[in-house]
Amino acid sequence: MEDIFCRIIKGEIPSTKIYEDDDVLAILDISQTTKGHTLVIPKAHCDNFLSCPADIMHKVMDVAQRIGQAEMSILGAKGVNILTNVGEPAGQSVMHFHVHVIPRYLGGEGGFQITMKGQDTSAMDLPRLAMDISKALKK
Ligand code: 5GP
Repeated sequence: MEDIFCRIIKGEIPSTKIYEDDDVLAILDISQTTKGHTLVIPKAHCDNFLSCPADIMHKVMDVAQRIGQAEMSILGAKGVNILTNVGEPAGQSVMHFHVHVIPRYLGGEGGFQITMKGQDTSAMDLPRLAMDISKALKK
């Protein structure tokens, strides 16, 4: 079954469009976590950031950057979160790659919260961990 973003791209479901070219569509998120919350989506289906072909991923990120810049300049945002979830454990609910551009304001924000809490690393071999990840990098 097609996901909701494939259907939006086809025009079967309405959306509030911000930007469109041959490869990329940017729309307002229906939930508006903060005012201006935008989704940048590749038109060709891929499941997530990690499985997206690099050239398409670069185009999506380029549009995300431009939208973040536009929102900082016209919405009075003082910051922006650029976020993409990969997989259900990371909070991905629509399995079609998309980048959230979430403007941040001083005070009175919407429902966006992100907390990264460090953990005790004393039992971790960090140099070994870094080496293992580094070795697994695709050329
Ligand atoms: P995820 O949780 O996969 O990272 O983000 C999916 C996002 O898609 C959510 O923020 C959700 O509000 C948004 N969304 C889901 N359905 C629709 C829809 O039909 N239209 C729009 N514009 N956004 C949607």
